[in-house]
Amino acid sequence: MDQGQYIPYPSYNYNDTDQHRLAVEAKIKPNSFMNPNQLEAVVKPLRALDFHQTQTGRWPEEDEWEYGAHHEAEWCRICHIGYFQSPINIDPDITFKSAEFLHRPHFPIRLHYHPTSLKGNFNAKTFIVQGNLGNLAVNSFIHQDQSRIFDEAQFHFHAPSEHLLNGRRYDLEMHVVHKERSNTNNIAVLGFVFKEDGVRNPFIDQVIRSSLEPTYIDMNLLIPQKSGVFYYEGSLTTPPAFETVLWFVVGHVLSVNREQLEFFARQWGMNPAFAGGKGNYRELQPPNGRAVIYFE
Ligand SMILES: [Zn+2]
Repeated sequence: MDQGQYIPYPSYNYNDTDQHRLAVEAKIKPNSFMNPNQLEAVVKPLRALDFHQTQTGRWPEEDEWEYGAHHEAEWCRICHIGYFQSPINIDPDITFKSAEFLHRPHFPIRLHYHPTSLKGNFNAKTFIVQGNLGNLAVNSFIHQDQSRIFDEAQFHFHAPSEHLLNGRRYDLEMHVVHKERSNTNNIAVLGFVFKEDGVRNPFIDQVIRSSLEPTYIDMNLLIPQKSGVFYYEGSLTTPPAFETVLWFVVGHVLSVNREQLEFFARQWGMNPAFAGGKGNYRELQPPNGRAVIYFE
């Protein structure tokens, strides 16, 4: 890799857009009186860090489905919809702080990304940048010295966001999709939510430039130095909606400015010709007894 062409940006400056993430954190109840149902709800996702179920089947073409509530009702013909669907509202009532019930420190992921020259493009449903930017290691919960390696395959955008934090929908969400090296049916998605607050995001500048020409994209520009992550077991948010996804939603809400947001949103959420102007997000799915675990 030729690092010589890579021009670093100034370090990213976070502002007060974390207030809703902080609202989720503040409302998470103490776990000291966890009942047996809640215990089961947090044990299951911890086990899934080590043993995750694979699901396979046909992958529908992009033109076989549409966004919008009445269209989504038809997805069941081409999907595999069970009880573990995504996206969800990350609600404080179903969110548990790991530090309050784990007897040892555990953070579920480690990220290894390197700047890579890639070209992005709009397809019928999203803006997607394909190519490998590195990997995400899922740390074993049971065997503390082991991890599962998921290679980054593509990242793409939804406007407005698919996940809600404490009931709030944000302006933009990015999904970084990783496939497990030893079984590519297993998927880990790292999600980032963005709020339009007038602050230019240097990573998004790189992404937008990649629509014109291959551009060095540095995921490290985006990753907050210190941020918690919300983790739960879920699904792809597009058909075939396989329930094969370990979801990690970064707690920090990131900034974009108006011009950057419009690059994406004018295709979807600001476009009445696309899903009635609703945007390219899937409707919220019921948690069905699932817990979200917040790792600090
Ligand atoms: Zn997505």
